[in-house]
Amino acid sequence: MNPPSSSLPDQVVITPVQAFSDNYIWCLHDDKAVVVVDPGDATPVLAFCKQHNLTLSGILITHHHHDHTGGISQLVSSFPDIPVIGPSGGHIKGITQAVKQGDTITLSPFQCHFDVIEVPGHTLDHLAFYGHGVLFCGDTLFSGGCGRLFEGSPEQMRHSLNALQRLPEQTLVYCAHEYTQANMTFALAVEPNNNALQQHADKVSTLRKHQQITLPSSLAVEKSINPFLRSHLQTVAESAKEYAGHTLTDEDAIFATIRRWKDEF
Ligand SMILES: [Zn+2]
Repeated sequence: MNPPSSSLPDQVVITPVQAFSDNYIWCLHDDKAVVVVDPGDATPVLAFCKQHNLTLSGILITHHHHDHTGGISQLVSSFPDIPVIGPSGGHIKGITQAVKQGDTITLSPFQCHFDVIEVPGHTLDHLAFYGHGVLFCGDTLFSGGCGRLFEGSPEQMRHSLNALQRLPEQTLVYCAHEYTQANMTFALAVEPNNNALQQHADKVSTLRKHQQITLPSSLAVEKSINPFLRSHLQTVAESAKEYAGHTLTDEDAIFATIRRWKDEF
């Protein structure tokens, strides 16, 4: 595992490239090379490379959805032989390095190392990448929310979110969508009296009014505002029980209820 305090090398920064209506393709780069996470569309990535005179040196993939993988083939034809690192199973065309829980990957242009964490729930193949105080979590953890359960169960998702929560609190959370403002509305419905949440929702509202990004978040912030990381708390349990209309016997039932509530919200 990476030591929790190791930050990114000085010259390496993370820049968002927007794709579609609300996707972010995270670009980890210095002044020569770039590694991108979840390139659903090649066009904005190629434009970013051209604008900053960067060589694409690798691709990380968190899960199989097209808005995270659609750009792979065009990027690889522009930059042949680069590593494309992602889930095993052979279902994602273009993956050259299949990885699993416990693996550590090295991004050679920068000497950066990321641990692979399997986080099934949104999809069954979903991976997160953690290193240097940075978490690329795709569609598993969002700021103020979590991914829809397309393939996994509520229990799997809660287990996956717990695994991410065990990372150091200062970890920066780079999710793949700008969903924060809508998530704040839902989170406030679950916890109307959460002061930290009210303040964060105001901050997010101001940022979005000026079309500014709300990410990265941090695990510390998410633990104080995100109802999907707070299903162990009485306030969240009470709201879930009220929504369900009956007693909920355990934390899995509470989590499942707030996930269903969000789907119907
Ligand atoms: Zn997805």
